[in-house]
Amino acid sequence: MGTNRLEGEMIDQENKMMAKFKKEREEKIGNITFTMIKPEAVVANNIGGILKMIEEGGFRIVAMKKVHLSKERASEFYAVHSERPFYGELVDYMCESPIIAAILEKDNAVLDFRTLIGATNPADAAEGTIRAEFAESLAKNAVHGSDSDENANIEADFHFSAEERF
Ligand code: GDP
Repeated sequence: MGTNRLEGEMIDQENKMMAKFKKEREEKIGNITFTMIKPEAVVANNIGGILKMIEEGGFRIVAMKKVHLSKERASEFYAVHSERPFYGELVDYMCESPIIAAILEKDNAVLDFRTLIGATNPADAAEGTIRAEFAESLAKNAVHGSDSDENANIEADFHFSAEERF
């Protein structure tokens, strides 16, 4: 009897916690984006410069880590591009050396971050954008930024657990 009540209370507590996580998550939709500082920018010691532009752009860092992606993980992350001719090259490049992965928070995060990073090809990136400042080329373009709220959440979940976000 006593054990059953304890089990019941534990299930109640677990349900309440899940509901809290779900609510917090729903509130964040539209407010987060996911970014990676890509290998060439990490090797060139541009982590600090890029993070400075991100923070000065009004983004709050919710989670961040340095990670060396395996070929499997990079292939999975970029699976949406698997039909594109540069897929193999992109995967090889992204696991060439470590990257910085981060979740960023701001109102209208996805669109505002796309504006801050600039066009995919740095030759077309507006002055004052991260890619104009730090990207080497179309392929080695310094940073990744999610292209939709849905992908921001998928990509954030790919790299971070709930316990790693603050
Ligand atoms: P993004 O959303 O601005 O990052 O651009 P895309 O979704 O179109 O492409 C994803 C990533 O693939 C880009 O950020 C580049 O790193 C890379 N990429 C895009 N076009 C090319 C290309 O023609 N060749 C190579 N090697 N990489 C490319």
